[in-house]
Amino acid sequence: MKAVVFHEHGGTEVLRYEDVPDPKPGPRDVIIKVQGTGVNYNDVWARQGLPGMKFDLPHIAGSDVAGEVVEVGGAVTSVKAGDRVIIHPGVSCRICAACTSGREYFCRQFKIYGFQTGPLDGGDAEYVRIPEVNVVPMPSNLSWEEGAAIGLVLLTVWHMLITRAQLKPGEDVLVWGASSGIGHVAIQLAKMVGARVIAVGGTDEKCAKAKALGADEAINYNTQDVVAEVRRITGRKGVEVVFEHTGEATWERSIQALAWGGRLVTCGVTTGFEGRTDLRFLFQKQLSLLGSHQGNKAELVEGLKAVEAGRIKPVVDTVLPLRDAARAHELMETGNHFGKIVLKP
Ligand SMILES: [Zn+2]
Repeated sequence: MKAVVFHEHGGTEVLRYEDVPDPKPGPRDVIIKVQGTGVNYNDVWARQGLPGMKFDLPHIAGSDVAGEVVEVGGAVTSVKAGDRVIIHPGVSCRICAACTSGREYFCRQFKIYGFQTGPLDGGDAEYVRIPEVNVVPMPSNLSWEEGAAIGLVLLTVWHMLITRAQLKPGEDVLVWGASSGIGHVAIQLAKMVGARVIAVGGTDEKCAKAKALGADEAINYNTQDVVAEVRRITGRKGVEVVFEHTGEATWERSIQALAWGGRLVTCGVTTGFEGRTDLRFLFQKQLSLLGSHQGNKAELVEGLKAVEAGRIKPVVDTVLPLRDAARAHELMETGNHFGKIVLKP
């Protein structure tokens, strides 16, 4: 079969479209014929390499797959050939105390599929092998491209807003990066909860698209003062929840935008690792800083009910042939898209 492989870390030139052996299922594995792979920032980081993190090379990236089951191992009982599925990208032992308490992201063996999963190759291929436990039905109202775009972002956002920040109806939430994969899903989930959404985008066009998705207010961070706008919109109160994933460039403003007793939830640092926190705000305003990473399978299944009900829908910005993975990485890095980029074998 064909796959996008990199044998060394580097720029997009290290991505090669080449022949690799077809995957064979173990007893509890499923083989999926890939119909679409969602591109995530993880793919860029895996290709570039990250300090202090070891990647198995050669590497096939891709954490989001939608496709049709074509073969199952002898011990598989819940999935059969012909099923239309997407994948839960959290790979873990499923045996330890963390896994059996529904906190698989604390498993000592936890890995994100396609990012660091070693011998388990990622989704940038014509076929993938994945454990049965990582397979979930694709919502019937999604196209293959939409199915490939929803899993990882929905899981991440659900864990952030519902499980960690415990967002409630009537609360104000500030969503940074409204046009990103997670940002555009966060807007929809927060609206579903009944919160008032203030989205932040880098252009007026992105702000308009955020409003079309349901955001009540939108702030253009290139032309407006985000903290001043939040204070104006909330009558100087600030927001109960800040949805963070950009890190260094936005961190201080995120803290300043919080209401008394507010919660900041973060899952990423795309602009840098060093965030400055004025500790006077932390204790005087009794703020909560919440880290979030991935989520469990039950959260994904729960979130997909909202997708099936039409309450949350992924926006697919661009679909490219699998062989053009380098172009997809370039688009991710420039950040001019709104929603998700999908590769199609
Ligand atoms: Zn475990």
